Amino acid sequence: MTSPLLQVSGVSKAFGGVVANNDISLEVPEGKIIGLIGPNGSGKTTLFNSIVGYHPIDSGSILYCGNDISNMHVPEIARLGLLRTFQQTRVYGLMTCMDNMRISVPHVNEGFRHMVARHSESVADRAEELLEFVGLYSKRRLMAGDLSFGQQKLLEFAMALMNEPRLLLLDEPTAGINPTLINGLIDRLQRASETLGITLLVIEHNMRVIMNLAEHIYCLAHGEMLADGAPSELQNDQRVIDAYLGAH
Ligand code: ADP
Ligand code: MG
Repeated sequence: MTSPLLQVSGVSKAFGGVVANNDISLEVPEGKIIGLIGPNGSGKTTLFNSIVGYHPIDSGSILYCGNDISNMHVPEIARLGLLRTFQQTRVYGLMTCMDNMRISVPHVNEGFRHMVARHSESVADRAEELLEFVGLYSKRRLMAGDLSFGQQKLLEFAMALMNEPRLLLLDEPTAGINPTLINGLIDRLQRASETLGITLLVIEHNMRVIMNLAEHIYCLAHGEMLADGAPSELQNDQRVIDAYLGAH
């Protein structure tokens, strides 16, 4: 059996007295879309932060492509093709969509970034291709701040794709999006997986979305791994149902 692209083993992380993640283990096989669910405050975003190197973990290990990345920092991990998007969008509202895309190129340090990005034909070509891919090509000259919230999420997704990720962690991609745009977003995520070969680990609050998208789902509650299984299994798992009901 081949080892998974990402293997999180026994990871714990506390903030002061708050244990945000306690002994969490999960696996993400290459080429798959895996879901991560759980009520608010259950530790989902903290786990993403630990994986991408945003903060050190207290114990456990994180293997990516067989290498231990638990002591690496964000840029180093990003260079290996492991990236995340945020629960809140992080686009630059006063820049055009194309300029947002251009400054999202990888392997360029901050001081150099604008200069390189503006002058590279191939960067511009790729930016246009990816804007087309997410359905924003016609908006490419608009200020990102003039897009709807859902379109900004699509732009942020396209910006992440500029980095040619191998594994992309998406934190609540449909949060705040108009329901009519949600199906389009699901379709793009599936196509990113199928045609670009990107592996996805997706935090999602919308049960319908994650049940359609992921082939295996992990459920956190109170910082612990409560259950995992196929969508149909989790949908009928009384522990998962109780965790969600208890959260309201
Ligand atoms: P989720 O994404 O599932 O809603 P989080 O990972 O954001 O949950 O939060 C899990 C717990 O950790 C919460 O109790 C939250 O208040 C706490 N927490 C998260 N980040 C920090 C931080 N930087 N400092 C202190 N507490 C934090
Ligand atoms: Mg969160």
